[in-house]
Amino acid sequence: MIQNLSLHNIRKALGEEDVELADSNPVIETIVIDSRSVIAPKNTLFVALKGAKFDGHSFIPSLCDLGIKYFLVRSDYEAPFDLVKEIVLIRVSDTRIALQKLATYLRDQYDRPVLAITGSNGKTIIKEWLGQVLSQKFSVAKSPKSYNSQVGVPLSVFGIAPYHQVAVLEAGISKPKEMEFLEKIIKPDIGIFSNLGTAHEDGFISQEQKLKEKAKLFTHSKFVIYRKDHIEIATYLESHFEQNKLIAWSDIPGVDYTLTVKKETDHSKIILIKPDFGMFTFRVPFFDEASLENIRHVVVGAITLGMKEEEIQKGIDHLKAVDMRLTLKAGYHESLIIDDTYNNDLAGLKLALDFMAAQRPKKRKVLIISDLMQVGNVEEVYQEVQRLINYHEIDLLLGVGQQILLLKKGLTCEQKYFQDTAHLLDDLREDSFENDLILVTGARVFGFENVVNKLQQRIHGTTLEINLNALTHNYNFYKTKILPNTKIMVMVKAFAYGGGATEIANHLQQLKADYLAVAYTDEGVALREQGISLPIMVLNPAQESFHMLQKHDLEPVVYSPSFFTQLGKYCQIHQCKMSIHLDLDTGMHRLGFDLSQLSDLKVLTEQFPELHVASLYTHLVGADEALHEDFSLKQLSLFSKMCEQIAAFLGHVPLRHALNSAGIIRYPAYQFDMVRLGIGLYGVEVNGMHDAALRPISSLKTTISQIKTLDAGETIGYSRKGKMKVAGKIATIAIGYADGYDRRFSNGTGYVMIQGQKAPIIGNVCMDMCMVDITSIPANEGDEVIIYGPSISLKELAKSIGTIPYELLTNISSRVKRVYYLD
Ligand SMILES: *Cc1c(COP(=O)(O)O)cnc(C)c1O
Repeated sequence: MIQNLSLHNIRKALGEEDVELADSNPVIETIVIDSRSVIAPKNTLFVALKGAKFDGHSFIPSLCDLGIKYFLVRSDYEAPFDLVKEIVLIRVSDTRIALQKLATYLRDQYDRPVLAITGSNGKTIIKEWLGQVLSQKFSVAKSPKSYNSQVGVPLSVFGIAPYHQVAVLEAGISKPKEMEFLEKIIKPDIGIFSNLGTAHEDGFISQEQKLKEKAKLFTHSKFVIYRKDHIEIATYLESHFEQNKLIAWSDIPGVDYTLTVKKETDHSKIILIKPDFGMFTFRVPFFDEASLENIRHVVVGAITLGMKEEEIQKGIDHLKAVDMRLTLKAGYHESLIIDDTYNNDLAGLKLALDFMAAQRPKKRKVLIISDLMQVGNVEEVYQEVQRLINYHEIDLLLGVGQQILLLKKGLTCEQKYFQDTAHLLDDLREDSFENDLILVTGARVFGFENVVNKLQQRIHGTTLEINLNALTHNYNFYKTKILPNTKIMVMVKAFAYGGGATEIANHLQQLKADYLAVAYTDEGVALREQGISLPIMVLNPAQESFHMLQKHDLEPVVYSPSFFTQLGKYCQIHQCKMSIHLDLDTGMHRLGFDLSQLSDLKVLTEQFPELHVASLYTHLVGADEALHEDFSLKQLSLFSKMCEQIAAFLGHVPLRHALNSAGIIRYPAYQFDMVRLGIGLYGVEVNGMHDAALRPISSLKTTISQIKTLDAGETIGYSRKGKMKVAGKIATIAIGYADGYDRRFSNGTGYVMIQGQKAPIIGNVCMDMCMVDITSIPANEGDEVIIYGPSISLKELAKSIGTIPYELLTNISSRVKRVYYLD
C-alpha cells in the first residue's frame, strides 16, 4: 500500500527529470511492473521496465485498454498517436532507476525500524523466520518470497504500509556497485550479515570484493549483527565500522551474545548468555548447522528490536521447518493444486494469484483461503482481497475463519464459508473437484496443509521437487550467452529430462521460449492436450503417428529421403501442409541426410511442396570436450556448407541451429539462428566451465520408514551384503531402484543426507526401499531424506557410479510425485 504519492510527489522523488503534468494532482495507490498484476487500474502507475526478453513499453496500449492512465516510461518512448491525449507519461532516462527513486522516496516517509539481511545463504529463511517471530509482538512488513534484487527491493518497499511497526527486507547482489543502489533504498536501521559462502560467485573477482560490496548495505545502520566465528566477516566489519554499532554473537564467550547449541533427541537447545550474564534457553526444532545458524541470527535480531526471551520462544514454537514455498501439486481428477499454506499477508496472496494466472487453463479457478494474519485496517485489507478475487476471476471461493466473512458482500463468485478448518475438511470430498485449478492459501494457524493433503494425489512418499525460479535463472543464464536475436528451442524430451514435461513446458511458455522439442509424437500430443501452444518439433516421429502430427500441429523432423517421401505422400493424400525440420548428419551418424543426399533432397522438395522446411539442424558429437574441438569445428563448417546448398534450391533460408547446451558455451560464434537448450536448463553445466552460475533445479526426497538398532556383525538386506562393523542404527528409506534410485549405489557407493549429515547406503538397494547407516545421526522415523539436491551434486553422484547426469535425471520413475515451487 502506498501513501501520499501524488504526481507532484513523484516529480519530487524523481528529481529534476521532466514530468508532463496534468492540471490535477491525482494520487497513486499502486505501482506495478507486470501487466498481469494490474488490479485497480484507476490509481495505478505502470513502470515500463526493459528485461532480457520483455520490454514493458510494448504492453502500454493494452494497459490503456484496461484503464491505466499513468505510465513511467523511457524518454524516447513514443506512444501510439490515438493514446497520447488520454494518458499521462512520466518520462525518465532510465525507468529502473526511477523505480528505485520512488522506492527511496517512500522508504524515507517510513520512520519505524527497518531491518535488512544480506549474505550468501539463508537470507530468505532468516527473513521469513524473523518475520514470524517478530509478529508475536509487532505488525511486520516483509519482502515477499525472495524479492531481494534491484527490482525486487523496490517492490518490497511498496508493500510497507503505515500501520506496520517494523519492516524486514532482504538484499541480494550479483555484482559490484549493486549494493549501493539497494542501500539507498533500504537504509536499514539494523542489519544482519548472514554468512559469506566460499563458492565463487560469478560477478565478483575475489572473496574480499564480495564481502566489501555486501557490507555496503550497512553504511548507515545503527546496528550490524554478525557471527564472530565467520572470521573474514568479523575482521572486515570490526575494522570498518564503529565498535558501538557492532553486535557479535558466537558459540564462544567474549562477544555480545554467546549462543551455544546442545542437540538432544527430538530438539536442539540454544543457550543464550547475555552481556549482563543473564541466561536463557531456547528450544528449537532444528538439528542441521544451517538452520541452527539462521535461528541464532533471528534470536539476536529479535532481541535487538526489544523482544523478551519468552516472546521469542513463543514465536519459535510456531516455526516448523515447514515448506513455505509456493508449490504446484497434482490433485485428483486432473486438478492442479497450488499450495500456499504458509502465507499470511496480502503481498503473498498477490504473488500466489499471479502464479495461479500463469498456470494452464483449467475448468474452474478455486480459491481456498483463511483469515489473513494482518494487523491494520481490516476493512481496507479485505476490500483489497475482494478486488484481487474479482480481478482474477475466481469461480469458487471457500473461506475459513471469522474476518473472511467480510469478503461476502462484494463478491459475485460462488462462495461457501466455514468457521474452522475441521468443518471445511468435513465438507471436502475427493470428487469435489475435477480438472480445476485450486489455490490453497492460509495462515499457519489454520493448518491448511491438511486441506492440501486431502486434495493431493498421493502416489507415494518420494517426491521430486522442481524449483521454477531456478529454471528461470538457468534459462536467463543461457540467454546472456547468446545474441538478442538468436532463438531458443528447449528440449523437453523424456519428460523434460525427468522434471515433468507439462509444467516445465508451461513455464517455458511464460518465459517466451521460441520452440520446444520432444522425442516422440506422443510426447508432443500430451503437451498439446495440456494446452501448450508453442511450436513443437518432434525428433523421431513414427509413420503411424502422421495423423496425430497433423491433428495437433506438431512439426516433425525429416531425416531421410524415404521418410520425406512417406510424409509428402501423406500430406498429398490428406491435402494438408506441414512444417518440417531437416536433420543433417555431419558426423553423429545417428539420423539425418548426408551431403551426398542433398541432390535427392532437392528433387523431393520440388515434388512435395506440401512440406515447408522450417529449419535445418545438426547435432555435435562432442561439444562438451576440448578434445573434440577439431571435429566439432569440422561438423559446424560442413553444416554451414550444407545449409547454403539447401537454401539455394529452396529459395529461402530456413532457421539454422546446431548448438546444444555445451555448444552454446563452447562455440558461441556458431549459434546461427537458434540454439537447442537441454541439460543446462536443468542445472548441469556439462563443460564444467560455469558450474557456479547455474542453479540445481530439482531435489529428490523421501522419508525414513523405520529405524533399527543393530549389534555389531549383523547383516542388512538381500544376500547379507551389508554388515554392521560396530553396533549402531540404520534407517530404512522409501526409495528403491524402481523409483530410479540406481542399484549401483549399493554397499556404500552412494549416500543420502539426513539432518544435514551424510548417511551411506548399507547393503544392496532393493526395488522399493534401501537402508542407510545413521549411527551418528540424531534422526527420527518420518524424517526427510535428501537423495540429491543443492547439497549433493548430480555430477558427482553420476560419476560415482560411472554414468552421466542425463541418465540419473531421466531415470526417475513416473511413480515419483513431482512438485513445483517458486522459492
Ligand atoms: C537432446 C538433444 C539436445 C540437447 O542436448 P543437451 O546436451 O541436453 O543440451 C540438442 N539437440 C538434439 C538433437 C538432442 O537430441
